[in-house]
Amino acid sequence: MRVAVLGAAGRMGASVCEAVREAPDLQLVAAVDPLAPPGTAGSGSSPEAPPLRREISAVAESEADVAVDFTVASSALDNAEWCAAHGVHLVIGTTGLGDAGIDRLDALFPRQGPLGCVVAANFAIGAVLMMRFAEMAAPWFDTAEIVELHHDAKVDAPSGTALATAGRMAAASAQWGADPTETEVLPGARGGLGPGGIRVHSVRMRGMVAHQEVILGASGQTLTIRHDSLDRRSFMPGVLAAVRKVTSRPGLTVGLEPILF
Ligand code: NAD
Repeated sequence: MRVAVLGAAGRMGASVCEAVREAPDLQLVAAVDPLAPPGTAGSGSSPEAPPLRREISAVAESEADVAVDFTVASSALDNAEWCAAHGVHLVIGTTGLGDAGIDRLDALFPRQGPLGCVVAANFAIGAVLMMRFAEMAAPWFDTAEIVELHHDAKVDAPSGTALATAGRMAAASAQWGADPTETEVLPGARGGLGPGGIRVHSVRMRGMVAHQEVILGASGQTLTIRHDSLDRRSFMPGVLAAVRKVTSRPGLTVGLEPILF
């Protein structure tokens, strides 16, 4: 399978280039990033690595079957439109697309059409399980808050994973206790109000990668479910699983779970 990477000069994009190059059944045929200096030999040190290109037209020229997008929300939907118009399957890891963005992808990649698109806020298999466990626990607890912790270059907050987790917990239970806070001396101290009123707290910290704690409480007990991505390699098995399956899943697939289970 021929794979193109969008955002190839970025942290995630560079890791995806490396993972694709190392996979015996996949071929890295294009690496695209508008920040790439012209003619840069990028996407890894291997001599077979394609040079980094600035224009998305490199995807069509390389006859890629699948494009993988780890860019920014403001670019990802334009890239998706381009892929849909040029017959390229798409795997999106870029976060911050919002509900309107997901609706747009649904329209661009109809189920009865020839193309597949997988969009997932978190490709780490441990994080997928964390979300599942949080959803299972939700009906048994009265209060829940989410703390997500990321590296200090993350531009969107809260993380897509935190929002997705809160959304699933809210769908699993509507019986959450009222917030006792009457005065918020420091605005924002109680975090952002997520789905179901579940509070989400975002920490941005140099040295971290991607971490999340879901804390649930009931009378006399708490449960903490924590996942740590310690290295960007944690996302790669999930990304490669999506790349391998997307061509046989027409339409939009949201989240990694339908790919894994
Ligand atoms: P980054 O800033 O290191 O890289 C983003 C790259 O995208 C930059 O090099 C930028 O030049 C490039 N870019 C911007 N517009 C582009 C376009 N139109 N075409 C091609 N490239 C373009 O960011 P990062 O840490 O690699 O994260 C990228 C995205 O992935 C973020 O939204 C982040 O939240 C998300 N992310 C998702 C997961 C997941 O599992 N789904 C994991 C980690 C990060």
